[in-house]
Amino acid sequence: MAVKIHPSVDNGVKAGSSSFAGGTLKCKCTSDPVTVKIGANVAFNHVCGCTQCWKPSQDTKFSLIAVVSKDKVSVTAHPEKLKVVNASATIQRHACSVCGTHMYGRIEKDHAFKGLDFVHPELFDVAGWEEPKFAAFVSSIIESGTTKPEEMDGVRARLKELKLEPYDALSPPLMDLIATFTAKAKGVLAA
Ligand SMILES: [Zn+2]
Ligand SMILES: [Zn+2]
Repeated sequence: MAVKIHPSVDNGVKAGSSSFAGGTLKCKCTSDPVTVKIGANVAFNHVCGCTQCWKPSQDTKFSLIAVVSKDKVSVTAHPEKLKVVNASATIQRHACSVCGTHMYGRIEKDHAFKGLDFVHPELFDVAGWEEPKFAAFVSSIIESGTTKPEEMDGVRARLKELKLEPYDALSPPLMDLIATFTAKAKGVLAA
């Protein structure tokens, strides 16, 4: 049996539709769910092994996470149920306080990704969102307790098979964006 990565990709990565223009994210509550309207397709969709992203179950190794411009994100039902998971984290993850689902993550401080909200495309009520294209923070799945060190070769092999190139940080284009932001802030690169 293939190593399980995330329910959205375990049966193969489904290609997105170029005409996808958004939809509604819904939390897991069976009554009075929080809904968040997303008015655009997502970008930089990937699976993430970090310990902070929301995952659909405790033994799921990776989360599925992407970004969208924050002006395309609006809470359309039950905003009163939302709570920030960790106020000191760079990404303020707004989660449903009843079911625990993270609905969107926002960066308020000065950061390379400020203006982009982090969302979990699996919560969309419609199909067609951009497919995941890489795997971030792969080694962190050891820290989350879902994976033993000796299982990592198998995990990375499965990710490659799914064409989700494994990285132990973010993908090179995203790491370059962060480094560019830092270089400009330090004045070593012209703004
Ligand atoms: Zn909920
Ligand atoms: Zn993550």
